[in-house]
Amino acid sequence: MIGLYVHVPFCRNKCPYCHFFTVPYRSELEDEYLKAVLYEASELPERNDTLYLGGGTPSVLSRNSLEKLAGKFVHSDTKEVAIEVNPEDKVDFSFLKDLGFNRVSIAAISFSSEILSYLGRRHSPEDIFRRVEEAREAGFEDINLDILYGIPGYRLKEVLEDLGTAIRLEPTHISYYLLEIPRYFPLQGRKSPDDNELEKQYYEARDFLESMGFAQYEVSNFARPGFESYHNLKYWKFHPFIGLGPAAASLYGRRRWENRKSLMAYIGAWKRREKIPGQVFELGEEDFLREKIMMGLRLVDGVRFSPEEKKKASMFIERAKKMQDLVSVSENVIKIKKDKFFIMNSIILEIIG
Ligand code: SF4
Repeated sequence: MIGLYVHVPFCRNKCPYCHFFTVPYRSELEDEYLKAVLYEASELPERNDTLYLGGGTPSVLSRNSLEKLAGKFVHSDTKEVAIEVNPEDKVDFSFLKDLGFNRVSIAAISFSSEILSYLGRRHSPEDIFRRVEEAREAGFEDINLDILYGIPGYRLKEVLEDLGTAIRLEPTHISYYLLEIPRYFPLQGRKSPDDNELEKQYYEARDFLESMGFAQYEVSNFARPGFESYHNLKYWKFHPFIGLGPAAASLYGRRRWENRKSLMAYIGAWKRREKIPGQVFELGEEDFLREKIMMGLRLVDGVRFSPEEKKKASMFIERAKKMQDLVSVSENVIKIKKDKFFIMNSIILEIIG
């Protein structure tokens, strides 16, 4: 069964560091966007066992839209039904629970008011506390918090404090992402962290999270046992997933595609009953394996080849064998050593050539 992602492109305002495709929220566009999503979904190749509403800001959607999406995509086979929540939004978590959602991912970002305002976020630390409490009261057990590191002027001690606060809220999952600072990002007298600082913020945070019972399973993701994201694992294991909405990406068989980053083009295609515009990539055997390696090496368990793939992957396996100080290679698995995750990208490039 496929994983299903729905990209909700709306945001109330644009955070200056954001790389995602978003547009300002306008209620009059929401209805047309939703119709276009349902139109695109009419061609789903098989049933979904996950639903992930991401964005953008899915928590801006009206009850009516959420009801329609859940009505269409939540059924007896959906194991994980997740939604991203911006702490600034007042969310009816009981309503979400009734619709079948069982996972909430809250973009906490940081617990420092100063940092939140520096990053252009409109929520306060109190909003994060409130949203977690409300979600839990409504019966959500599986709660993820996103925390950023690498923020200009923010030091290791402060990042660890943020993680400590996050842990006190008792989430089941923590995503710990590097802030990728765009070139034009205003530093406002703050110093960008250098590689040494980033490395410290990465490894020390990982050790701290692990010591608190959050096992790392992906380069940026940590979970209490049994709470790894089933949906996101499909991306990293290169299992089939379909993304609906503008800018959404999909993988099915050897075909990978990315919808155009334009809400108007997306809605226009629905109005004219045309194919959703985007780029399609038919992956040859070797490119399929390359991309599978790229995704799989993000996992602590590494990339695993099926018996049929193993022979075709021999060139990559041989390269990996020459890098035994950085990766471990067994029968049909290549893994990056855990203390080398910080240089993951260069290791991957070396292996896929
Ligand atoms: S709320 Fe999230 S998706 Fe929207 S602009 Fe900010 S970082 Fe980007």
